[in-house]
Amino acid sequence: MSNQSGEVRMLIDGELVEAASGKRFENINPATEEVLGEVADASPEDMKRAIASSRQAFDESDWSTNRALRKRCLEQLQAALESEREEYREELIAEVGTPRMMTFAAQLDWPLEEALSWPAKMIDEFAWERDLPDGNMMGMQSRRSVWKEPIGVIGAIVPWNYPLEVTLNKLGPILATGNTAILKPAPDTPWNATRLGRLVAEKTDIPPGVLNIVTSSDHLVGEELTVSPLVDMISFTGSTATGTRIMEKGAPTLKKVFLELGGKSAMIVCDDADFASVIPGGAMVCIHAGQGCAMQTRMLLPRSRYDEGVELISAAMAGIPYGDPSSDAVFMGPVVSARQRDRVLGYIERGKEEGATLVTGGGRPAHLPKGWFVEPTLFVDVDNSMTIAQEEIFGPVLAVIPYEDDDDAVRIANESNYGLAGSVWTADIAHGLEIAASVRAGTYGINLYTLDIGSPFGGFKQWGIGR
Ligand code: NAD
Repeated sequence: MSNQSGEVRMLIDGELVEAASGKRFENINPATEEVLGEVADASPEDMKRAIASSRQAFDESDWSTNRALRKRCLEQLQAALESEREEYREELIAEVGTPRMMTFAAQLDWPLEEALSWPAKMIDEFAWERDLPDGNMMGMQSRRSVWKEPIGVIGAIVPWNYPLEVTLNKLGPILATGNTAILKPAPDTPWNATRLGRLVAEKTDIPPGVLNIVTSSDHLVGEELTVSPLVDMISFTGSTATGTRIMEKGAPTLKKVFLELGGKSAMIVCDDADFASVIPGGAMVCIHAGQGCAMQTRMLLPRSRYDEGVELISAAMAGIPYGDPSSDAVFMGPVVSARQRDRVLGYIERGKEEGATLVTGGGRPAHLPKGWFVEPTLFVDVDNSMTIAQEEIFGPVLAVIPYEDDDDAVRIANESNYGLAGSVWTADIAHGLEIAASVRAGTYGINLYTLDIGSPFGGFKQWGIGR
């Protein structure tokens, strides 16, 4: 993958530019630790210029009112993305370390299918104006209508785990509804964003400033967005700690916030489930090395069939194909950075110290000396109060927790600061529906692990705010 060559330049005010300082930072392949290339390293001044440009585009161009222009631009961008689909695929594998198989789904092909084309289509179908029944205020008749208008300038702050997917799912609705935006990708995965910037500049009529893209190695450059009085809203996906800080820093200017944060979802296996077909599915926690907020990182097994369940999940976790993410057969690549690897290994140590039983994995794979790999790791006999059952690890680590009866399973599932997703596995759908209704999770599967991407996405508690 070292022959990748990504776009170095950012997009500010319609121009592809280096940082004003001329500084760049390195983009590193997490599977090999090789430097793929460089990208512009913006300072707060570059970010301020981008913010001013988005403000001006919103206030002074016809972007917010010209629906036909917006539709044309989104369709142009869609076509431009599709024209470089295969280059995107290789670039995402190289900079994210995502397994190739994930690019045929959530990392690339799914968002290319819908993330821009659906909002573009909605421009014609959406009820931008609607009349209410006539009003009567102190004897005065009045005609009333509701106009849907854009919010204004939006800072879109994106993480590294599904970078292009999150980017397109933010930008589609933001741009279709007439807002302008500053996109701030994560420093670990900048090229998918700078490629987007080049496509916007070269292949669309998107006016200067409607979309600015600013890359930086410094997280605090993103903070300019949250404190600037020129920005109306932050749309953020990432850690709960950063989400909290964004609310705090945005409070003095009353920022509107959309926050898509963490999860610690539970998969409840009932004693009437077909264990042999259901339980190996718990190893899904390893896909993309566990770097997803909706991963079901706690498996709840009934005490009555506990040993049988543990045996099945142990075999599944031990058999996960992992390694070079560019291989078709690989289910799990590395985590994104040395920092993340060390963070995950730190949680594994905590699990051991707090008394959970380590069954498989638990360290760095000896046969992969290069790259930020962590072995698929299974803990059993976990108590739900342990750190590994409460905190989001964002690595290939599954915690198996025994339960006594339905009430106990629901209690354990709900004893969490998060409330994003979950699932229940049972031969009795009515029973599954009862459990689903008792678990505080925004999206829930009955005999279904993955999220239905056509359904509203979001959760309760410290998962965040919005859908
Ligand atoms: P992070 O939340 O710090 O970073 C996400 C994005 O926010 C990046 O673009 C980053 O540059 C930006 N950012 C960081 N600090 C900021 C600030 N003060 N103001 C504005 N923007 C800021 O996440 P991380 O440190 O890279 O990862 C740590 C943990 O976060 C992970 O281990 C995982 O648990 C969680 N995480 C969750 C998701 C998710 O999809 N929910 C995604 C990535 C990370």
